[in-house]
Amino acid sequence: MQANKKASLINFMKKYGYWIGLGLSIAVLITIITVAVVARPASQVEDDFTPVDTPEISFSNPLTEMEMMKNYSNSALQYNSTLNLWQAHKAVDFAAEEGTDVYAVMDGKVTEVTYNYLMGNIVKLDVGGGITVVYASLAEDVPVSVGDEVTKGSVIGKVGNTAKSEANDGAHLHLEVLLDGESVDPALYLDLAEK
Ligand SMILES: [Zn+2]
Repeated sequence: MQANKKASLINFMKKYGYWIGLGLSIAVLITIITVAVVARPASQVEDDFTPVDTPEISFSNPLTEMEMMKNYSNSALQYNSTLNLWQAHKAVDFAAEEGTDVYAVMDGKVTEVTYNYLMGNIVKLDVGGGITVVYASLAEDVPVSVGDEVTKGSVIGKVGNTAKSEANDGAHLHLEVLLDGESVDPALYLDLAEK
């Protein structure tokens, strides 16, 4: 009986072994393809969402009328007529009448109120997420002090023409954005198309 069983198994394998092998191969192949297809989008999604820890941040406008005068450039040189030289301009300049209200673009904390010969009166506003907004060329009477907690849209200064390095441009707001201490294009956070 035992020998019979063994013989019939060998017989069975001889008859169907090829098909069983083929079936197993196909099953393995399908499993590999399925794993590859399912796993790949997962890793792509992870890549796309790398900056997921930084919440979406959008600023409100620092001025009622957003008239851009000079663009941001990290390395491209722009002509500075005041200094008569070509330089990168790591900020955006908005033309406005002297004395125009300048608003906090987000809730934040004033970390610095200073005067600098080249950039004039400066207010630095820490808005969280590693972002500091630097307002320069402000008029002399700055209404905020270091440590003040300000709310989005509140007045943090007035437009002036105090930045000696940009004096030829007339009264304007020089707005700089620092992310973890590095200058970034303010257009990333501002809706410049909207007036
Ligand atoms: Zn400027």
